[in-house]
Amino acid sequence: MIDLHTHTNISDGTDSPRELINKALAQGITTIGLTDHDTVGGWDEAISALRPGIDLVLGSEISAQTSDGISVHILGLLFDRHESELSQVLTNTRENRIGRMERIIGKLNAAGYDVTMDDVRAQLSEGATLGRPHLADALVAKKIVKSREEAFSELLHNNSAHYVSHYSPTPEVAIQHIKRAGGVAIIAHPFASLRGRTISVESFAPLVAAGLDGIEIEHRDHSTEDRQLCREIINTYELIETGSSDYHGTGKLNLLGESITTPENWEILASRATGGKVFRA
Ligand code: AMP
Ligand code: ZN
Ligand code: FE
Ligand code: FE
Repeated sequence: MIDLHTHTNISDGTDSPRELINKALAQGITTIGLTDHDTVGGWDEAISALRPGIDLVLGSEISAQTSDGISVHILGLLFDRHESELSQVLTNTRENRIGRMERIIGKLNAAGYDVTMDDVRAQLSEGATLGRPHLADALVAKKIVKSREEAFSELLHNNSAHYVSHYSPTPEVAIQHIKRAGGVAIIAHPFASLRGRTISVESFAPLVAAGLDGIEIEHRDHSTEDRQLCREIINTYELIETGSSDYHGTGKLNLLGESITTPENWEILASRATGGKVFRA
């Protein structure tokens, strides 16, 4: 089973990279992608945790935003982490997320919710990419809400009064950086409308021109209609279809291997990457 999109506590998942590898092995995953938000911080631990029976695909899920403010996630896999422009984009995004969090907290405080940056930091592993899920965890710890889900649906969702975006490249720029760093670029859950506004079918042309390799079709946040639309786009532009769990440990309901990529599709994608290799014990 090939699952190319997962998170650890190096961003907003709850397992360490080592725990992720162990769980993936125990659950019959044969190829696991590590794609923490805007960071490569978990790569070394994941490599050192490898044992026979599983292939490791290193990557990152890059937060992007269109010029009209739509949030888009681009999975970069098998890129060279030393490529300086890509690395700088990831660093800028991570640093910008700190001021952004302070602004969200300010809005919540103004609305009467008692939560501080220290409360949020208490939920974060060292060096992890800071995100709204950590704020959600702080709100749970303070008994303001019962779960991450409730925190998002009541207070933190993209259309809420407390939402603030952070610096992100456009999806085209994110894709170009991934490609220049020798990686493959896959748009994650493009029509997952639970999260807010999603991009139009027309906006795929510039993404393809920038080098987009694939579309994550099989994802729990896509309806049957969303998947059908993705298939039409894949046919139009000859893109590769993937499927993945977007596992976040106990941070979300998503289970390892609940959606997967076929070996044939993974072989095509992997053969296009020049920036990094698949690791194996
Ligand atoms: P941020 O990167 O800070 O904008 O936060 C976005 C992250 O929050 C995404 O990566 C999702 O994994 C997570 N997220 C979004 N909606 C929910 C939800 N309803 N419950 C739990 N996590 C969520
Ligand atoms: Zn996440
Ligand atoms: Fe995502
Ligand atoms: Fe994700």
